[in-house]
Amino acid sequence: MPQAFNPPLKIGLTGGIGSGKSTVCKLFSAFSIPIIDADIIAREIVAPGQAALAQIQLTFGNILLADGTLDRKKLGQIIFADPAKKQCLENILHPLIYQRLKTQAAAQLSPYVILAIPLLFETDMTDLVDRILVIDCPETLQLQRVKQRDQLDDDQIQRIIASQSSREERLGRADDIIDNSKSTAELAEQVKNLHNLYLSLI
Ligand code: ADP
Repeated sequence: MPQAFNPPLKIGLTGGIGSGKSTVCKLFSAFSIPIIDADIIAREIVAPGQAALAQIQLTFGNILLADGTLDRKKLGQIIFADPAKKQCLENILHPLIYQRLKTQAAAQLSPYVILAIPLLFETDMTDLVDRILVIDCPETLQLQRVKQRDQLDDDQIQRIIASQSSREERLGRADDIIDNSKSTAELAEQVKNLHNLYLSLI
């Protein structure tokens, strides 16, 4: 008899900018755990020929670069200046991202999967996941690490932090928390412990 297919346990991984989400995802990947990344999906759905790009064109007019790809900088400027247009863009993108996250997670054959969703709370996607993992570190460290990684100044980083859920809200809604205020070795240790926890829950 063929074995029944059990859908994987779905872990929603989130955290503020620079909290260490990508770093943690790489550590889970090393255990052969699939990572489904909302940011990657967000880029895929606006590629030439994809549904979202056509909708964006209809709504915002022609904002393509010469090579036919989306002019992200121009779109960014439009939505930065107008909250209603930002909402409009999100109404196009979020349902498509939600659907792809759901389909891709269900198709994995591993015991559990990580859904990396930076704006898990802000976009109200928590019903996609069985358990919430928050990557946490103090704001001062977020600032310091993002400054080293990206070419952004303090004000720009502060604005991004302020636009995201507060640290308190994230921690209050977490099932599991990774404290990423210490060394990468300590980070790896926490990921290993959580990997074992998730395997024990299946
Ligand atoms: P996010 O994906 O949440 O934006 P990243 O995983 O990219 O965050 O981490 C932000 C930056 O901080 C990266 O350059 C990363 O290499 C670095 N970093 C992450 N965790 C640590 C740590 N424990 N110690 C030192 N640097 C770290």
